[in-house]
Amino acid sequence: MKKYVVITGASSGIGYEAAKRFAQRGKNIIAVARTKEKLEKLKTEIAGAGNASAEIIIKMYDLTEKENIYALYNSVKELDIETWINNAGFGDYCSVENQNLAKLEDMLKLNVEAVALFSALYVRDFANKENTQLINVSSVGGYTIVPSAVSYCATKFFAAAFTEGLSRELSAAGAKMQAKVFAPAATKTNFGNIANDITNYDYNKAFGTYHSCAQAVDFLMQLYESDKPLGIVNRETFEFSLSDYRFPYVQKPQTLQKV
Ligand code: NAP
Repeated sequence: MKKYVVITGASSGIGYEAAKRFAQRGKNIIAVARTKEKLEKLKTEIAGAGNASAEIIIKMYDLTEKENIYALYNSVKELDIETWINNAGFGDYCSVENQNLAKLEDMLKLNVEAVALFSALYVRDFANKENTQLINVSSVGGYTIVPSAVSYCATKFFAAAFTEGLSRELSAAGAKMQAKVFAPAATKTNFGNIANDITNYDYNKAFGTYHSCAQAVDFLMQLYESDKPLGIVNRETFEFSLSDYRFPYVQKPQTLQKV
């Protein structure tokens, strides 16, 4: 049976580059986002790069709509999904006091709700299938609060803590699936524009140091190939490392609820 990699947010940035990289490895891709033209461009680019063996299935869904989360999942669940990457997400550089509440609502739905629901659905059906893995894209801002991006960081803390906990749960249960957190730092994508509500975001002016999408996806692939639960960029040095869990975890069984 053909195996597939699902990548949400595959129309731009890290997800777009990741789709190309998995296709180069001969993986079949299910590419999810809202923008049809960009997904078509991805499909053409992959075909043109001589990855004829890779099948690219395009799925257009707005993942801030809960019904779309279930609709997308139901439309692919009969396929052999070897890897699921929850990458779609966006940020908002703004104080909490001044935040646009509609944007905040959508950020919570996409960065938190969609990640939790897709993870739960995927684990439920695939946890005991050989070589499966779930990668949730958090951020280095999911391990350190960045001033002026408090709400965004909190959504990424959710993704990181949820995925670390899920990874521990899967390994305690002896499941075949691995769950992993990817935590990049500044990467030159469309993220800066969306997070600042502009169209001319300049990574050179804003950061000076940042990674390209190709570099970020090099890191993602290292995480994919490893047995570690976390791949994280150091915000000071910009070095990438594979890591063990970072969130505190209850170690004493005697302190847990008794059922
Ligand atoms: P990007 O270039 O803006 O890509 C975001 C992707 O998410 C696009 O494909 C976009 O596609 C999709 N998306 C946005 N809203 C969506 C929705 N409502 N429904 C479905 N898809 C939606 O940004 P990126 O930097 O590659 O972001 C990828 C992930 O990396 C995000 O989770 C982000 O938080 C994380 N990250 C980024 C950085 C960075 O500096 N770039 C750093 C750390 C973590 P459509 O617009 O076509 O729907």
